[in-house]
Formats: sequence, structure tokens, C-alpha cells
Amino acid sequence: MAPLILAHGGAGRRPMTRAQKQYLSAALQVGYHLLERGAPAMTVVEQTIRVLERSGVFNAGLGARLQLDGVRRMDASIMEGKGLQAGAVASIEGIVHPITAARLVMEETDHVLLVGPMATAFAAQFKLERQRISAPKRRLSYGALLKRKRPLGNRHGTVGAVALDRFGTVAAGASTGGIARMLPGRVGDTPLIGCGVYADNHAGAVSMTGVGEGIIRMAVAKEICDRLTGGEAPKAAARHVLNKLVTRIQGSAGTLVLAPDGRFAIAHVTPHMTAGWCNGRGEPVVRDRFR
Ligand code: ASP
Repeated sequence: MAPLILAHGGAGRRPMTRAQKQYLSAALQVGYHLLERGAPAMTVVEQTIRVLERSGVFNAGLGARLQLDGVRRMDASIMEGKGLQAGAVASIEGIVHPITAARLVMEETDHVLLVGPMATAFAAQFKLERQRISAPKRRLSYGALLKRKRPLGNRHGTVGAVALDRFGTVAAGASTGGIARMLPGRVGDTPLIGCGVYADNHAGAVSMTGVGEGIIRMAVAKEICDRLTGGEAPKAAARHVLNKLVTRIQGSAGTLVLAPDGRFAIAHVTPHMTAGWCNGRGEPVVRDRFR
């Protein structure tokens, strides 16, 4: 099986920056190098996302945006397609790598999703690398926050990856600081299995980015996988579901779709999506538009 890694740095209105291109390319190289050495897809997805979380140039990990009260709360999830194992964290604070916390939920507990201060406490047990916890800056009541503008849209930055390893297993992951102007406690699609990510060796692997409220309501990642199982090609499945997201609920998103036979698609209904892939033939390909 020819291994392959795809990664993204978010879909939105803004073009990719030079630094984002460099980090995405570096992350794909790290991921592909691991695949070549026989690493499982799960490890590859985690390590690729860790490079992006650490970069500080994406809306994840060190670069994650703040919620309306000035606090950085992050979401992440990871899933592998052989045993359909998955782990996720939501509203976690104070760590550099939420994707690793998600993997630990999968491997060290009988659960799939841990949230809030207890997810943060869980991560502390494993001595994950810490980042400074941002203190609430605006001492506004929740009522006052509610009167502020509701979430408007997405800017670049959530990160994600999908991989196919030598043994034919796929995996998917994503990590985010959420969307602009979100209420404290808001959780998007990224930590929700079947919405922001899905992976099944009988279907494929999907990692989503975009406005989570729409992606959740249409359980987008699972629907794309179901279409793959039904025989649709990755590109057709991605287009179908993204178009439905737009026409039914005016959603906005981008997706990485990888089939277990190595066919893949990168698709978006936003002006830009920072994404790329590496299959070992030459340098990683990284662009901010895919048609
Ligand atoms: N999907 C993420 C969220 O809604 C944001 C993004 O992908 O840009 O939290």
C-alpha cells in the first residue's frame, strides 16, 4: 500500500501566509517520513498536527484564538479506521497539544470525549507540555457577552490531517481554537466524531474545517464517509455534501477526504483553503485553492 498524508490549515476568506505554507509543508514532510518508516496512520496524524499546533501561525495550540471572555479553550479529536477507535477533548485549556490529549483519551480511558476543566485535569496527569492559561480579560457577565455579536464566520486556521499507512489503515484528526467571536463554552464540530472527523477502513478518512455550527447539524464527516462506502469517489462525495451544506443551511466549510485505496480530494466552498499532501513523489504540494 502506497502511504499518503494530507493536512490542512483551515478554510476561509484569507489566502495562506508564507509562514503557514512553510509550516504546512514541514508538517507534511514529518508525516510522510513517519509513514515511510512504517508508522501507523494514527501516529502520523497526531505528529503532523503537533507541528501545526506548535507553529503558532494557525488557530490551534499556541496560535489558538480566544473566546469572547478572553480565554483560550481548544477542541481536538482523532480517529483510526481499523477498530474505529476515537478520542477527543473540548474546551481544554493550557496545553500546547490538544491532539495528544485527544489520543490519550482514546488510549487511556474507556471514553471518547472529555470536556472543560476536567479535560484539562486529565491532560495534567500525563504532564503534557503546557502553555500559559489566559486569564479572563473582560469581566463581563454572561448576559453582557450574549449581547455581543454572535459568531460571524471563519478565518483561516483550524488544522487537521488524514493519513493512509502501509498497512491500509486510515486515520483522521483535527485541532482548533474555534471560530471568531464565540461565546465562552462554545464547542464546534472539531471534537465531535462524525461531524469534524471520521475514519473507517471500509470507507475512508475525513477531516473538516469551517463554521462548526453547520458542520455539526449535517454530521458532514460521517455523511462523506457513507458516500464513499456507497461507491462515490472522494471528490464527488466531498462536492455533494459541501454543496448540500451550502444550499440547505448556508454553511461554509472545507474538507480533506482520503479513500483506503489512496484516492483523495481536497474541496472547499470558501474562497480559500490552506491544504496540501505528500505522497513521497517530490516535495509536498501546498496551495490555498483547490477546484
Ligand atoms: N470548525 C472549527 C470550529 O467550528 C473552526 C474552523 O475549522 O475554522 O470550531
